[in-house]
Amino acid sequence: MRLLVVGGGGREHALCWALRREQPDADLYCAPGNPGTAELATNLAIAADDLDRLADAADMHGIDLTVVGPEVPLARGLADRLRAEGRAVFGPSAAAAQLEASKAFAKDVMAAARIPTAASRAFQALEPALAYVDHHAEPLVVKASGLAAGKGAVVCATRREAAAVVRSMLGERAFGEAGATVVIEAFLQGEEISVLAVTDGRDFELLPVSQDHKRLLEGDAGPNTGGMGAYSPVSVATDAVLERTRNEVLHPALDEMRRRGTPFTGVLYAGLMVDAEGTPWVVEFNCRLGDPETQVILPLLGGGLTDALWHVARGEHVTPIARRLDAASVTTVLASRGYPDAPERGAAIRIPQGLPSGVTVFHAGTARGADGVLRANGGRVLNVTAVAPTFAEARRLSREAAEAIEFEGKVFRRDIGWREAARVASGV
Ligand code: AMP
Repeated sequence: MRLLVVGGGGREHALCWALRREQPDADLYCAPGNPGTAELATNLAIAADDLDRLADAADMHGIDLTVVGPEVPLARGLADRLRAEGRAVFGPSAAAAQLEASKAFAKDVMAAARIPTAASRAFQALEPALAYVDHHAEPLVVKASGLAAGKGAVVCATRREAAAVVRSMLGERAFGEAGATVVIEAFLQGEEISVLAVTDGRDFELLPVSQDHKRLLEGDAGPNTGGMGAYSPVSVATDAVLERTRNEVLHPALDEMRRRGTPFTGVLYAGLMVDAEGTPWVVEFNCRLGDPETQVILPLLGGGLTDALWHVARGEHVTPIARRLDAASVTTVLASRGYPDAPERGAAIRIPQGLPSGVTVFHAGTARGADGVLRANGGRVLNVTAVAPTFAEARRLSREAAEAIEFEGKVFRRDIGWREAARVASGV
């Protein structure tokens, strides 16, 4: 089998790792990849959003299955393009990827399908948006409708703050075209979980549920980031919550996308706020695997991932994906000083030999210079994933390995999984 993974972050390193584990003899390519994927696959120096060159590479290497990691190439039609050329691709069409690429579209789908989500309205003109804010309860949330690398949602304590955000998005185009439409919505109370479904458009296989940590600093303080760590499983995601998520969120969303003539295939990622009654309110949909969720989820699988992706990519029925029930997983992101605004680059990285078994270091923003030295080359540099029989052990291993890896300006959170740890401690 000839496989191509598109993307170059920690998610794609974890994907290459999982595919390689299941397919030791496959020809595996990654575009553009990173120094981590280089140890498992042949890296192709092609940007993840260079559709022409990706299509050429798929031809040249006779790729059987392409797995697309990031949202941007999906929203630009990479899956459509490769499919039109007769290739099997795991990832939604550009039309279906609108579930992530346009929050206004996602809200419209949710309203039509009666999916629980915060009451909201979308605006393109400044004055009506400000008038809406003026009568909105506090707190409230203002979101750039388009793709903003996870940074386009602003939770506002007051109407005044929300008005300022609306002005910056619609008036000053602070998020460029992504903020040409804003969605203003009610604030949801509860605990967030990420539920990812591998779907053929009708049926789906749930992946292990995880919880991300969006804020930069311990105690969930500081600015929003792409994610500073995650863990799985999450005890908030009870069987009852997942049953409701299947029936009230995932099936209705997939049915509505089929009804519109744009079936969604690939990974449907539901970012949920679970309230005290166990209602799964949708905060957002994504059209792909999460980052860093992938780095905790894939090590918990027991097999069947490649087969499931392969069948879905060929328009067939999704096949079962096994999961390990005897283990927990925690990943800690090591970021560079200055992340998320202006991360420093270039610091030499030292990863100690002989990290404990169960610990895997996934590369995100790293680069190997001509001198062969591994260096920080982005905001999120490494993901340190630990798998262990218990959550507490996985958490300890991930944190200790995160401390043992060295580079100048390393920033990380020591409290990944703090909610779960508090539950474990209180015996809930
Ligand atoms: P989004 O880009 O829509 O996923 O939003 C990013 C983050 O902002 C989410 O992970 C939540 O922590 C927070 N957020 C977004 N919308 C809401 C909401 N309606 N209520 C509470 N928190 C929200």
